[in-house]
Amino acid sequence: MKLMFLGAPGAGKGTQAEVVSERYHIPAVSTGALLREAMANGTELGMKAKSYIDGGALVPDDVVIGIIKERLAADDMEGGFILDGFPRTVAQAKALDDMGIKMDGVISIEVEDDAIIRRLGGRRLCGKCGASYHIDYKPTAKEGVCDKCDGELVIRADDKPEVIKSRLVVYHDQTEPLKDFYAEKGVLKTVVGQEKIEDTTALTIAAIESIRG
Ligand code: AMP
Repeated sequence: MKLMFLGAPGAGKGTQAEVVSERYHIPAVSTGALLREAMANGTELGMKAKSYIDGGALVPDDVVIGIIKERLAADDMEGGFILDGFPRTVAQAKALDDMGIKMDGVISIEVEDDAIIRRLGGRRLCGKCGASYHIDYKPTAKEGVCDKCDGELVIRADDKPEVIKSRLVVYHDQTEPLKDFYAEKGVLKTVVGQEKIEDTTALTIAAIESIRG
């Protein structure tokens, strides 16, 4: 099964991708996480990506397409995968088509901009392993400490209020047109993002079950 999550930053793509990955035993691939890992390791790619990410802009298509091509060629992708945060432009979606990859389902998680701005203010990230949390919706057992690796929680540089606004503009301009792109292919499912993570998960699982038929 090849699934994709679309949605604004903070809509819950990564959170739902993680749950779905565990439930269906298929790996989730997040280009944002791969880019943050490259930045943390100080690689050439990471250094190139940093200014775009910190400013709330998209990393150029050729760079991200290169990353995804390499990741999708790995052996663990053979039984299917979940894409989280890729594609983000029509050019990236066309690149997936050119790679001969046909998605079984594309799930768009819909959340209003006002709610996104509120949510992202409470988002936290493990500085060590990259796991994602939220102070209200997905708190850690011990405040400020990652449940998975005991790493320290940090606020993402691109979750600052002024950067969040740019990211939303980019989402509406460049990524939202992908809903039409995949609706025309007949694979788009819409899930209305709920206040509670488990409520969004229930709707997401229902959408996936309808895709599996
Ligand atoms: P995310 O973790 O998905 O919110 O991604 C964080 C940041 O990484 C985005 O705001 C972009 O700057 C960059 N990024 C992630 N995925 C892509 C992509 N598919 N195309 C371009 N930039 C991306």
